[in-house]
This record gives sequence, structure tokens and C-alpha cells, in this order.
Amino acid sequence: MMSRLTFCVSSLLLMAGSAAAQDYPNKQISLAVPFAAGGPTDTLARNLGVSLTQQLKQQVVIENVAGAGGTIAANRVAKAKPDGYSLLIHHIGMSTAPALYRMLPFNPLTDYEYIGQVADVPMTVIAKTGLPPDNLTELIAYVKKNKEKLNLGNAGLGAASHLCGLLFMSRIEANITTVPYNGTAPAMTALMGGQIDLMCDQTTNTTQQIKSGRVKVYGVTTAQRVASLSMVPTLAEQGLKGFEISVWHGVYAPKGTPKLVIDKLVSALQASVQDAQFKSRIGELGAQAVSKDKVTPAALASHLKTEIEKWSSIIKKAGVYAD
Ligand code: ASP
Repeated sequence: MMSRLTFCVSSLLLMAGSAAAQDYPNKQISLAVPFAAGGPTDTLARNLGVSLTQQLKQQVVIENVAGAGGTIAANRVAKAKPDGYSLLIHHIGMSTAPALYRMLPFNPLTDYEYIGQVADVPMTVIAKTGLPPDNLTELIAYVKKNKEKLNLGNAGLGAASHLCGLLFMSRIEANITTVPYNGTAPAMTALMGGQIDLMCDQTTNTTQQIKSGRVKVYGVTTAQRVASLSMVPTLAEQGLKGFEISVWHGVYAPKGTPKLVIDKLVSALQASVQDAQFKSRIGELGAQAVSKDKVTPAALASHLKTEIEKWSSIIKKAGVYAD
């Protein structure tokens, strides 16, 4: 008797769940951004939100859940109701967090349904305008000579700015004090105000500041120059080889989100990465939307796995952890 009742209740729940999935989306969707408003992830997410809203015919609302290098937002979405109304956009930090944090409250490889990749964003090494060096060679000599006096802003352990700064310091063999913020938007304000000296940040946050001369730039972190910043040399072409960073991004849903919902989100995201307006808006800021074949759950899952392996070994060698 009891087991028949249990069976009936679970079948009813299943039917209600699949009806809800068929009806999806019928209310606004939250897209959590793990960093402060106005920064690079926020900029990408807001442009994506405009396109996804058009594709899904429901409002996609950006929620900034900043803190702890992006891990607070990732954890919140991992534990959210798996109904397709709580999504996460996150970047390369999803693959560096397992090596950087001794106690990570979520597992990037088991706690999510994957929707797809979004865009790749180059980084730039920048400084406050008052910093004396005028090119990368001078900067390296200056940092080595003044390491006790200088500091480097970032968006916390696990942020792309943290990773890039870490690799830069290890590459030039000079450690300077790091100053964490909730995102590189507030760090940029501090840099322009002269409270911090240096930063590594994505072109989606630095292009306008570089072009208007509000910060100094020493190079881009990609193998090729960035079209929207073609006057800026790569670090490699100035002799600093061996660290190339392009910040990849993915969209995630909590584990257990119905397949029908995921399929709808995958189609919408595939349309967004081909949306001319989305591509040109982010393109002006140096970002490149991925090709459609990267917007599948399998493609994101396998990229994440490869990236976790890659960054774990680099980070272990560098010997940095958080508690
Ligand atoms: N993406 C971060 C932000 O939006 C910064 C970072 O990862 O360095 O602020």
C-alpha cells in the first residue's frame, strides 16, 4: 500500500517536473556573475543576457554574487533549485579553484549540468599612469628593483587577474604584495586612483582605459595581438615567453536540471554566440565569441576537465593555496 502510494507521488512529481520543463522558461532567469558589477565578467554577462533574453523570450537578469575569487557564486548555483532559473557564468577560475582551494565547497566536475562555452578574452598587464617604466623590459627591471614597495591588484584567489599576476611574478622571479578586491572593477578604480600599482586584467575591462590613457599598458597575454588593441604588443613578442592566457567562459546550471531545459538553454546559447550584435559588442572589447561547436554540454565538460588538469600542475608547482 505504502509503496504504491510512494510510486504514485513520485510519478506525479515526475509528470509535474516534465510539464514545467516543457513550459520552460515562463519567468525570469537569474544568471549569477561571480564578481563585482562593471567588471569584465559582468560586462560579458550583461551582453550575453541581452542576447539570451531575445532567444528565450524571458528576461535574463544578472545577479552579482561577488567574493572569494568567484567561489561564492559557484557554490550558490551548485546548491540552487535545479529548474533552469538559476544559472552561472564563470570563467577559467572554475578550473583553477580545485587546485587553489584546500576546501572547495563545490565540485566543478560533479555539481553542475554544463550548457556550453561562451567567449575567450585576452588579458593585459597594466599599471597606474604614474609608474615610471615605459615598456615591458623597463617594467621587469623596475619590479625586481622595487619589489618591497610595489603591489598588484586582483579579484581574489581564483580570479583570472590572480592567475595572470601569479604567472607574471613567477616568470620574472619577483614577488610583490597582492591586494584582493571583489572584482577588477573596484581594483581598476584603485589603480586609476593610484592606490595600487599594477594589475593583470581582461580586455573587456581595460580596453577603454588603455585607449583613453587612464592606465599604462605593457602587453597582451595572447599569442597574437588583439585587433581592438593592435598598438599593444604581446608579452611574447617583447621576449616574455611561456605564459599565454586567454580567459575562457562557460555557462552552468545546477546538477539535476532537466535535460529538456538544458537543451533549450544550449540552443539559446548557440544562437547567442552567432548573434552579430553580441559578437560585435564584445569584439570591440577584445573578446571573441566561441564557435557553435563549443556550445554543448559535452564540449564544456571536456574543456573543463582538461583545464583543471593543466592548471592544477602549474599551480602546484607555484605552491599557492587558500584555506
Ligand atoms: N573576472 C573578474 C571580474 O569580473 C576579474 C578576474 O577574474 O580577474 O572582476
